[in-house]
Parts: sequence; structure tokens; C-alpha cells
Amino acid sequence: MRNLFLSENSGRLHAGEMVSQSGIYRAHHRAHRMPHNVYVNAGTRLPVCQRCGHDVEFGLLMAGPALQTDYDFSELGDTAKSA
Ligand SMILES: [Zn+2]
Repeated sequence: MRNLFLSENSGRLHAGEMVSQSGIYRAHHRAHRMPHNVYVNAGTRLPVCQRCGHDVEFGLLMAGPALQTDYDFSELGDTAKSA
């Protein structure tokens, strides 16, 4: 019986960590605010909360790549296709 997954696999990211997947994240603050949703772009470094500092955590709710990175909508993808 190992409970490693409880601490290691919660899926939450913390302030200062780099986001690798764009999408809707749920921000969990410490005591001062109810959890709420935010959109975060991949490559963004998660900010420190102005009120609870590094205690804020972010959990991915739904991945949603930016429109410009979609191969059917981006102009980059279009030029690559016509080659
Ligand atoms: Zn906070």
C-alpha cells in the first residue's frame, strides 16, 4: 500500500512552474477565494497570487490549444500544406 500518488500525482501545478499544455485551468487559492477557472497558454510560467503567494495551485480542467496553433486554422499550416 503506497500513497505516493496522493502527493505526486495530484496533477496540480504551482506558482513558478511552466505550463506545457494550453487550456482551462482551475485555480485553487488558500482560504481567500473560491476556486475559479482561467485560460493559460502553453509556455506560460504560472504566477504567484497577489494574496496567497505560492500557495495557489492550478489543475488542468480541459485542454484547449490556441486557435493559431491548430493546423486547419493557422496560416503556417496552410503554407505547409500547399507545398
Ligand atoms: Zn490566492
